[in-house]
Amino acid sequence: MLTNDQLNQWDREHFLHASTHFAQHARGESATRIVTTADGVHIEDRDGNRFLDAFAGLYCVNVGYGRTEIAEAIAKQAHELAYYHSYVGHGTEASITLAHMVAERAPAHMNRVYFGLSGSDANETNVKLVWYYWNVKGRPEKRKIISRWRGYHGSGLVTGSLTGLTPFHAKFGLPMAEVVHTEAPYYFRRPRRDMSEAEFTAHCAAELEALIEREGADNIGAFIGEPILGTGGIVPPPAGYWEAIQPILKKHDILLIADEVVTGFGRLGTMMGSTHYGITPDIITIAKGLTSAYAPLSGSIVSDGVFKVLEEGTDKFGPFGHGWTYSAHPIGAAAGVANLKLVDDLGLVQNSRETGAYFQNALRERLGSHRFVGDVRGEGLMAAVELQRDPDAGTDFDAADKTTAQVVGAMAKHGVIARAMPQGEIIGFAPPLCITPAEVDKVADVTAQALEDVT
Ligand code: PLP
Repeated sequence: MLTNDQLNQWDREHFLHASTHFAQHARGESATRIVTTADGVHIEDRDGNRFLDAFAGLYCVNVGYGRTEIAEAIAKQAHELAYYHSYVGHGTEASITLAHMVAERAPAHMNRVYFGLSGSDANETNVKLVWYYWNVKGRPEKRKIISRWRGYHGSGLVTGSLTGLTPFHAKFGLPMAEVVHTEAPYYFRRPRRDMSEAEFTAHCAAELEALIEREGADNIGAFIGEPILGTGGIVPPPAGYWEAIQPILKKHDILLIADEVVTGFGRLGTMMGSTHYGITPDIITIAKGLTSAYAPLSGSIVSDGVFKVLEEGTDKFGPFGHGWTYSAHPIGAAAGVANLKLVDDLGLVQNSRETGAYFQNALRERLGSHRFVGDVRGEGLMAAVELQRDPDAGTDFDAADKTTAQVVGAMAKHGVIARAMPQGEIIGFAPPLCITPAEVDKVADVTAQALEDVT
């Protein structure tokens, strides 16, 4: 049995962690948490600590940890057929079944899915789908993609560019020239305090129109947005936002990509977030909740209209020249089939709606009038608490104080994991969809306690 000291040494000497301060970590100045086991909404580490994981990993373990149904489906698939590719018409029972299950759960006009491995690669695929689409339509100049500031769409080259968070651009020379950003639908950070929600929605729509005007609609292929901003701060859109945005895109022949990597499969209390907000996308990105992260798998769901153009294109030009070795990996697909069945069998979409409403209330009651809380917001089982030094005056904490990181650290000491969101002083919550009201009470109580501990 390896000792903790040995593992910590190997970790510092060999392992480059995601989104981590490499220098501090190599010097042993930041902690390594070695996670060992998990069940339901709880994880345990090698030091014997047990935590309620109120962020479901990275908002992905939607059915909760330790589901034997999924583990067994993965093992069975690995024994029978660990791998075969999906090129030139190959498939497996699992990948075909999952494609059917995804189509059943997608909006009615969307019936075909292209599988990838991660949310990032699915969005890379989406951009290529858009470029291909406009090439087939004889409009190759329609290449630019509009994204929103504070959107998160991945960490690749084009997806890191689509992401509208500056820490993901700095020192990489991003965003790429093909990507342009528009206003974040972030009412709490509206340009003027006296703006009503309706006025702010009109302002976002006007900003979008102005950007389209500046860039030229003939140069713009698509708009990408999460139904509710996720990594950018867990921000539901202001009332009427999607109703205002969609006609503008239609008018200018701009395709709409709904990035549902977080919101797909129940997180907002509806099967898809698009349904929740009345969004009619041309393409939907799915990942996390597709397998609840038991195995990596993502997908790009295309509308019947987009598929018609893909058919026309391949009839004219031959096979679609895009694929990953692991597209539709059978083990991921088997995990997906077992996972989506569990979401249904356990009634998790309904639980997300009901326990989600209870959670939003619990957070508002316990934290809404705290002297350092500027905003409590969310939808379904996705919520955020935004901290400010003086909410009445609208004064923010200094970033250097790392207030949110301290609060989240104090929460962990009380046995609850939340996420310090990467930009701003925002505590994020997105627990597994199987969480109970008693467990969300604990999350709200511990958050309130940690705020007192730190401030
Ligand atoms: N899109 C959204 C909305 C996300 O939240 C994420 C990841 O958090 C991604 C895309 C990228 O997914 P991945 O990290 O699997 O590449």
